[in-house]
Amino acid sequence: MTQDSSMLDGTIASIDGAVRSLGLEDDMRHVLIEPWREVQVGLPILMDDGNVQVFHGYRSQHNAARGPYKGGIRYHPNADLEHTRALGMLMTWKTALADVPFGGAKGGVSVNPRELSTSELNKLTRRYTMSMHHILGVNRDIPAPDLGTSAQTMAWIMDAYGSIHGHTPGIVTGKPIELGGSLGRAEAPGRGAAVVGCRALVDSGIAPEHSTVVIQGFGAVGAAAARTMFDRGANVIAVSDVDGAIINTSGLDIPALEKLVTEGGSVSDFTNADALDNDALLTLECDLLIPAAIEDVITVKNAASIKAKIIVEGANRPVTTDADEILVEAGVNIIPDILANAGGVVASYFEWAQNVQVFNWELERVNRELDRKMNEAYDVTKAHADRNGGSMRKAAFDVAVGRGSETIKIRGYVG
Ligand code: NAD
Repeated sequence: MTQDSSMLDGTIASIDGAVRSLGLEDDMRHVLIEPWREVQVGLPILMDDGNVQVFHGYRSQHNAARGPYKGGIRYHPNADLEHTRALGMLMTWKTALADVPFGGAKGGVSVNPRELSTSELNKLTRRYTMSMHHILGVNRDIPAPDLGTSAQTMAWIMDAYGSIHGHTPGIVTGKPIELGGSLGRAEAPGRGAAVVGCRALVDSGIAPEHSTVVIQGFGAVGAAAARTMFDRGANVIAVSDVDGAIINTSGLDIPALEKLVTEGGSVSDFTNADALDNDALLTLECDLLIPAAIEDVITVKNAASIKAKIIVEGANRPVTTDADEILVEAGVNIIPDILANAGGVVASYFEWAQNVQVFNWELERVNRELDRKMNEAYDVTKAHADRNGGSMRKAAFDVAVGRGSETIKIRGYVG
């Protein structure tokens, strides 16, 4: 095999696997693989140089049988409708596996946010919100940050939405704390990835405090995963960002690195480490590899060179479906995205619940409830894998699709 199938085909293949093992009917399969609604818009923006540029924006609402649509908005040059659809489907299964009362959706704008000024990004975000507000809502569809978007982006969305519908903090999650964001939300996907990573280490007979960890990406997810693993005593030996990678086999000082990056530096500016090729980072010998940057980084081209014992998918679909087969065959334990990074949507649920109740939680409560939800999702997935055989990804999809299809039946969409 020399070519990887697309993210959408890979996601449908995972659903099909669950459809087969659960013995679901064809009618149900059609509902499971089709998005409910998709909107594509042109977004004309007056740029700082006086020219008008038209960007393309998307929202794919996959399934809301279990609750309002929920999913991030991504600003990335490769964002398109098909890609957004695949990510929206993953959200449906992530919310079902984490057992939070949401469905799945995703949004995107095809743009490189690093090339736009703050004022251009503000205008673009408001235009996107005005074009989509009729399909959003606290009980309809609740966006959150993703690659290339941030708490600031969510603040602009909330403000634009509020200008039509009145003050509505629950319209987005991942907001700044000052506007009703939740303590612990920003760190939650990385913290959750570390929680399930530690469970997988222990299940392999490796004590987390004696483990070696490699992390690709040092953004919202990667940095929080690194910090949590560091705090639990693990040896985080290598990390990267888009500009480069670094290694220190004695262990990186993660709090010092976090400080440097928060102050605007790149990972490769860190002095107490050696430079490393970005691709070489993925094939380092380690106990736990956390790809937490973008999708399709472990493919048929490098799968056979991976030496990690466990891979925790901090990013969405970093391991392609074809690479997954090679790695599972080789005995690598892959904790799939819909489990590994579900901490983001779990904490989003806590944020939304706090907004709806107008009652804020302490950080200690957010982290305690997050750890409980992550451990429960890990337990149910591991128990299914132990009982039925197969990988953690297979088990996660079986559990999630099982829950989703039950609700679809009860609502009467099928038979
Ligand atoms: P981010 O923009 O905060 O960080 C991304 C990081 O990856 C940055 O450090 C960037 O420099 C780095 N990066 C990008 N391309 C790279 C490359 N080719 N090699 C090495 N590093 C690279 O984004 P994020 O919010 O941390 O999201 C990362 C992934 O996690 C995405 O797949 C996203 O969909 C997923 N995710 C995010 C959340 C969330 O709430 N933020 C929740 C669940 C899943």
